[in-house]
Amino acid sequence: MAKLTVNDIDCRGKRVFVRVDYNVPMAENGGGMSINDDTRIRATLPTIEALRQQGARIILAAHLGRPKGERIPSMSLRPVADALSQLTGQQVAFANDCIGDPADQAANDLADGDILLLENLRYHAAEEANDPAFANQLAADAEIYINDAFGAAHRAHASTSGVAEKISGTNGPCAAGLLMQRELQFLGDELSNPARPFVVILGGAKVSDKINVIDRLLEKADTILIGGAMAYTFKLARGFSVGNSLVEPDKVDTARAALEKAAANNVEFLLPSDNQTSRMKDGSWEDPELVSSDDIPEGLGGVDIGPTTAESYAAAIRGAKTVLWNGPMGIFEDPRFAAGTLALAKAVAAATSAGAQSIIGGGDSVKALNQSGLAEEVTFISTGGGASLEFLEGKVLPGVAALDDK
Ligand code: AMP
Repeated sequence: MAKLTVNDIDCRGKRVFVRVDYNVPMAENGGGMSINDDTRIRATLPTIEALRQQGARIILAAHLGRPKGERIPSMSLRPVADALSQLTGQQVAFANDCIGDPADQAANDLADGDILLLENLRYHAAEEANDPAFANQLAADAEIYINDAFGAAHRAHASTSGVAEKISGTNGPCAAGLLMQRELQFLGDELSNPARPFVVILGGAKVSDKINVIDRLLEKADTILIGGAMAYTFKLARGFSVGNSLVEPDKVDTARAALEKAAANNVEFLLPSDNQTSRMKDGSWEDPELVSSDDIPEGLGGVDIGPTTAESYAAAIRGAKTVLWNGPMGIFEDPRFAAGTLALAKAVAAATSAGAQSIIGGGDSVKALNQSGLAEEVTFISTGGGASLEFLEGKVLPGVAALDDK
């Protein structure tokens, strides 16, 4: 069922606790910390703007890094408050603790339309423990709960679960922010009844990370294209040799079961028919050698899909009406092994401009898409890593379950 969103509730004059994802990369700069990439901060601006236009009193809460209950100065969110002031064109207040006097005082000082950012939630171990007393303190200053942090929704922490429960207990609404709403729309609604053909591209390192997603998609997809190191475990299951490729020998049976399910469900399940390979020497990969067959000889490890595979995968993608992509086709961080991933990124962009819905399911495929300069040419890029995968597996995410249905 669709979740209540920030646009469905009246926030005028109300104090609104908004869980956001400001876990941004930072680097030391002249004795302080500066933000390397503000994508996640920009991604929250539509929700902040919607609240501001309604005259809400906005209390933003987030975590940064893994301080594990310690006040580690390099993990302070203060630089994010400065960045937000610039981006919103209004002074964003900062409370140097997310609970207690500093937070209560700053929340009391808010006028309609004002914005406050609380210090790193994870300076308190109680956040990850979903401690009810801590959740009570966080909830004390707010009448409405909004979650716009999809990337943290798979964890039942105080700010994603406990606070919502408390606010719900006082009859306050709990709603999705606009970013969260888009995640639920694209990873949920759009994929529950996809326009066909529905083509799924799965790559990355391990079968074990994605087998639950594969299992679920075997009930929905028309075609599944497999790349990355994961492909070699599937090749083993089909009886091919894989040389020195990265494999999970204990997952061969799991891979075989997936292949059987694909056959039973009439899902086209493609593995690379040619492979870019390389030899490891003194801890680094040598230049690629193309192996134009299913089998990879001893001494060589697969590092990318080959050009014939890339072309046949690209053709399947260009004919799709819905594309879901998670995981690179090879070790794309090394430009020598990025051609397969790049070819598929171009095919996904082409399918999108021809009218397909393309959904990029988070993690390294997002990096690959940014690397190829095509990030603007797909329909939707998920901001979640682990959360996207768990959602695609069909799991109920605690941070989503905590929100009111429409
Ligand atoms: P994941 O996080 O599961 O999507 O995996 C992404 C990682 O898989 C990237 O760091 C890739 O370098 C790595 N990867 C992809 N293909 C291969 C391969 N053939 N051999 C080793 N690592 C790979």
